[in-house]
Parts: sequence; C-alpha cells; structure tokens
Amino acid sequence: MGKVYLTGAGPGDVELLTIKALKVIKKADVIMYDRLANADILKEAKDGCRFVFVGKEDGKHSLPQDKINRLLEIEAKKSQIVVRLKGGDPFVFGRGAEEALYLKKQNIEFEIIPGVTSAISVPAYAGIPVTHRGVSVSFRVVTGHEDPNKKSSQITWENFKSNDTIIFLMGLHNLHDITQKLINIGKPKDYPCAVISRGTTKDQKVVVGTLQNISQKAKGLKTPALIVVGEVVKFQQELEWFKI
Ligand code: SAH
Repeated sequence: MGKVYLTGAGPGDVELLTIKALKVIKKADVIMYDRLANADILKEAKDGCRFVFVGKEDGKHSLPQDKINRLLEIEAKKSQIVVRLKGGDPFVFGRGAEEALYLKKQNIEFEIIPGVTSAISVPAYAGIPVTHRGVSVSFRVVTGHEDPNKKSSQITWENFKSNDTIIFLMGLHNLHDITQKLINIGKPKDYPCAVISRGTTKDQKVVVGTLQNISQKAKGLKTPALIVVGEVVKFQQELEWFKI
C-alpha cells in the first residue's frame, strides 16, 4: 500500500512551491492534480510518473469528490508515492480534509504538505498586505461561491461590519451581489475593494475600486480571481512591485 501526499501547489508562480512539496513531486509515481495547480510543476516529476487530471476549479468539479476519493484509494493501492496536488493550500477551500478523512477511513497512510495559499500571496503580489498595523488587525478568508441572497447562506454577513480585511475566494461570479450585501450591512459605498485575477502569474490583473464600482470595473476579468475588501487595499498603488 502506498502513501498519499496531500500537497499544496501554491498560487500559480511555480517558485512558490515549498521544498517539501518539490521533494515529493520528484519521487512521485503518480500525481493527481487540479486545474489550479500550475501544470509546469509536473515537469519536475521523474520519468515514468503518471499524471491524472481531476480538473477542479472555482467550486466546479469535473470529477465528483467521491470519484476523486475513490481514485486516490485505487492509486494508493497501485503505487508507492501518490501526490495529490492542489492549488494553493490543500486545507483552504481545497477539500483536502475531505480527502484525508476518506484515506483515514480506508487505512491509507497520508501526509499533508501545506502550500502558499492564494488568499494571502495573491494580494501580496498585487501590493496589498492582508494586515497592517493601525489599519487592519485581522483578516477573514470567505467563500464567495455561495449566493449571498440565498436563504440558506452559511455566511454571517453581520460579522463583516468590523474593519477586518475580507478575502473572498471563488467569488468573481457573485461579485456584484457580494458588494451589495456589504453595502447593505452598512459598509460605505466608497469602501476600498480590489479584484485580482490570475495572481502571481504572467497573466496577473489587478483592478482597484470601491464596493460601489468594482463589479463594473472588474468586468471581463478571468478566473481564478479573488476579491479583497478593506482599507489595506489603499496601499496597492504604492506597494505594487510585481512587474510582468
Ligand atoms: N486551496 C486554494 C483555494 C481553492 S478555492 C488556495 O489555498 O489558494 C479556488 C479559489 O482560489 C479561486 O476561485 C480564486 O478565488 C482563488 N485563487 C486561486 N489561485 C488564484 C490566483 N492565482 N489568482 C487569484 N485567485 C486565485
């Protein structure tokens, strides 16, 4: 029986891969990877390593999760070293824990290799610090995949009244509704907001605006993209450093 490494691939820039991840990728017999994991990473694999694409992006799954789980089990029974490569960090909206729980139930050995999450690194590449002394003392990472107008929403919008930085992942398609919801709970219309598309890659695009105008300004941006809401967005112009 093999071992499964639930491995973070980082946000896009291949060099943001951890040394630990790289080591296991080089040894892997099989790599099961998502769309969000930069495929250039696969070049690091040894000859004969098999690649299995289980395409997963933006909350949409081309393979249902139970099929992915099953596939992991089958691969672990066939190979020694199975790398399950996930965009960013495997435990940040990556369903990594679901896979780990499944493996545990099947008595398959696993290890978690954390990755650089897009939630922090993508704002950083855009020149936005997620915290800043005197400006924001905390940040929240929230799913933007949920329709904010849905009655069954699990998000407590009232929590966002403070000046914490809010980072929405998977929210590009709901951008308008998210910003409206924040205005509805009392945030000023001119509150700073940014959308960053394909961050840390050569296709990075940064759009800065306000809750009022961001959905108009960000029209046409491509996924993956994340939304940053908070006073920290004001640093963007000054701290912009990543030249493509
Ligand atoms: N586990 C991942 C997140 C998975 S959810 C992590 O830790 O980064 C997928 C969401 O992450 C996307 O919808 C998008 O909001 C965000 N994301 C991932 N990579 C990104 C990138 N390079 N640029 C902008 N957003 C990104």
